[in-house]
Amino acid sequence: MQTPDEMTGHMRGKRVAIVGAGIGGLTAALAFARAGAQVEVFERAGEISEVGAGIQITPNGARALSALGLDAQMEAFGLAADAVVPTDGLTGYPVTRFDLSGFAPRYRFYHRAALIDLIGKAAQDAGAKIYLDAPVTSVSPDGVLQTPQGAFTSDLCVGADGIHSVVRSFVGVAPEPKFTGQVAWRAVVSIKGAAPEAHIWMGPGRHIVTYPLQGDVLNIVAVQERTEWAAEGWSHPDDPENLRAAFTDFAPEVQKILSHVHKPMLWGLFRHEVADRWHTDRIALLGDAVHPTLPFLAQGANLAIEDAFLLARCCDAAVNITSALKTYEGLRKPRVTRAIEAANANARNYHLDGIARRTAHLGLKTIGKIAPNAFLNRMSWLYDHDVTTEPLG
Ligand SMILES: Cc1cc2nc3c(=O)[nH]c(=O)nc-3n(C[C@H](O)[C@H](O)[C@H](O)COP(=O)(O)OP(=O)(O)OC[C@H]3O[C@@H](n4cnc5c(N)ncnc54)[C@H](O)[C@@H]3O)c2cc1C
Repeated sequence: MQTPDEMTGHMRGKRVAIVGAGIGGLTAALAFARAGAQVEVFERAGEISEVGAGIQITPNGARALSALGLDAQMEAFGLAADAVVPTDGLTGYPVTRFDLSGFAPRYRFYHRAALIDLIGKAAQDAGAKIYLDAPVTSVSPDGVLQTPQGAFTSDLCVGADGIHSVVRSFVGVAPEPKFTGQVAWRAVVSIKGAAPEAHIWMGPGRHIVTYPLQGDVLNIVAVQERTEWAAEGWSHPDDPENLRAAFTDFAPEVQKILSHVHKPMLWGLFRHEVADRWHTDRIALLGDAVHPTLPFLAQGANLAIEDAFLLARCCDAAVNITSALKTYEGLRKPRVTRAIEAANANARNYHLDGIARRTAHLGLKTIGKIAPNAFLNRMSWLYDHDVTTEPLG
């Protein structure tokens, strides 16, 4: 957030109702509370919790959290990442290594629950009220929310209610998601002594991403191309033997990791168009509610954090909320669209086969040797972006 001197105070005393206490909603709660708004968060679940899995917060997302005063918490609860290591999943040989240690703020791996907890606590300390067991069923154009507990008025309603957003339907129609032909398993296993690196184990039609979390835990996301449909969502337990069977030709290191998996969750990966309409006069959408992305660039939560910060900044800077929402949409849409396209491209690049696979690995190896910074330079549009100083136009 801006320093108090830079803040114009247009949100001071305004009522902001946020639907959803996920990473995006809680970051918005903190950012609006810091801007002096009266913030109320409505969460349909009975507790603020997250699945026991990991999440990568890249420097672009961390920059917004840092500006919200969370440096000490990020250092305490996140594991600083040293590198991303694209690896041949079949042989187990690293193809190249992208150094991540030079970023400020650092690229970090978190337990999702720890990240949610640290942002939620900071939001409450800044004055935000969080109501649990409070599913929002509708929002009127003038910002009145309906919940089973009654109606709540607001000057601004923020829909941060995720992939199956209810608020989105009061802003505009979103296109139907399409099955990508890929399913993903998610699991965490206990493994001691893993280096603070993300490994991308690439194989024909499949890949696995592994990275460590605090407390000797390894986070696993394994993706396989499939024709059958699997429902979109988080909570579909699967038999660990299905996961192991999908990767039997992968290297022994991978087999060893997978042998520790007991309770994987399986879900189908869906592609969504970025919504055309992000706001009305009094309602704004952010995060997965407006632009769900495939997980192949680790950006869904980072973009939600960026959205939340920039939304609060735009509202703080503008006399009129509707014009602030226009500025917000205009700044966010091109960036989010680019990130989503890059994630879609990664899905193809990780799963190559035959000559295309050998050529791509050779290319990566060569670039890694002759121009070790090439990858980070190519990603600078993503990781170096700074929503805390970006001109508002
Ligand atoms: C396998 C996998 C790995 C990923 N890894 C990464 C990663 O490393 N880095 C990264 O940046 N992103 C990652 N993502 C994406 C990231 O998890 C999401 O993009 C991010 O959590 C979206 O946050 P959000 O706040 O927009 O939505 P959510 O986290 O979905 O939060 C929405 C909240 O709204 C609540 N809610 C829903 N409806 C209502 C209602 N009607 N009333 C009240 N409350 C409601 C829900 O209960 C929930 O708490 C990954 C995704 C997957 C699937």
